[in-house]
Amino acid sequence: MATKRDYYEILGIAKNAAGDEIKSAYRKMAIKYHPDKNPDDPTAEDKFKEAAEAYEVLSDGDKRARYDRFGHQGMGGNSHAPNMEDIFSQFGDIFGGGGGFEGFFGGRQGGGRRQRKGSNLRIKLKLDLEEIANGVEKKIKVKRYVACQPCSGTGAKNGTELKTCQTCQGSGQTKRVVNTMLGQMVSSSTCPTCNGEGKTVTATCDVCKGEGRQLHEEVIPINIPAGVANDMQLSMSGKGNFPERGGVPGDLLIQIEEEPHEFLKRDGNNIMFEQYISFVDAALGANLEVPTIEGKVKIKVEPGTQPGKILRLRGKGIKDLNGYGRGDQLIHLNVWTPKHVSSQEREILEKLRDSDNFVPHPGKNEKGFFEKVKEYFA
Ligand SMILES: [Zn+2]
Ligand SMILES: [Zn+2]
Repeated sequence: MATKRDYYEILGIAKNAAGDEIKSAYRKMAIKYHPDKNPDDPTAEDKFKEAAEAYEVLSDGDKRARYDRFGHQGMGGNSHAPNMEDIFSQFGDIFGGGGGFEGFFGGRQGGGRRQRKGSNLRIKLKLDLEEIANGVEKKIKVKRYVACQPCSGTGAKNGTELKTCQTCQGSGQTKRVVNTMLGQMVSSSTCPTCNGEGKTVTATCDVCKGEGRQLHEEVIPINIPAGVANDMQLSMSGKGNFPERGGVPGDLLIQIEEEPHEFLKRDGNNIMFEQYISFVDAALGANLEVPTIEGKVKIKVEPGTQPGKILRLRGKGIKDLNGYGRGDQLIHLNVWTPKHVSSQEREILEKLRDSDNFVPHPGKNEKGFFEKVKEYFA
């Protein structure tokens, strides 16, 4: 993964910049590096995208807080780079009203061809509790369509056997003047000759047979942030299928499937564990070992422990997805009552039955409990 520049540095603003400062800084960058304004500068588009990515993160309170804490690492890898279409659709907010930006640049989106986007790829990803608790890098094998190399995704031989469509003169749209009651109106529709592509192929590429793309298997590394949950969907922009004969690839959508743990149950960012102890251990106290996502941990059961008591292991839970610390592990102490006893055990227990200490007396008024209950019913 290439090293990324600091988002604040990209927009030229201070770490504590307010929302409207971020907006106006981005507006300046977008105007400066807009690809239509810089046809001779091949780096302009990258700078334009870089600024859009920085703005996308810093203008969102949650994302910004995560970035401030964890840097690019906290943003789950490369997945935040927006594509050009997303950038343009975002401009409505930035430049106030849908028309503002087009007014500036003579309507990039308005007329002409829309860039086609390939289909999204969906995969399910199984994660165990340990992976969820700390975050993990997974390498996923996917089969997806990528642009055909020899023809650069055009479908034309060598990528050069193309000519501008004669029907629409390359606009991808045919215009028709219609006479109506209100006068003449222009209606436009997708050019039937080139299917809106603006170009026709004069000789097809031998490698892809004119499709402009090829199936390709690749291994994609994905940084899964800690604290994700079942059914959550992560997306990696541009890692989906490349469309036929040119355009931008779709996205790779990753649906999280949480695998249940044998002993540990998740409750938000906390982890629950049911520990059974004998009533002997409950009465006399004991040292035990319990499983956690980080391995075994020793716990102490105090003498005289009642069933239902909860012990807390701080910080042994799941890291928060938004970087707000880490959950705990809660241990529920249950007292196990034997279902069958030997005659020898029965003898011991019968003796204990009469012992004062074995008469339950919950609450503060210790020994008077049963007397109080009798009074209540009297
Ligand atoms: Zn055409
Ligand atoms: Zn090809």
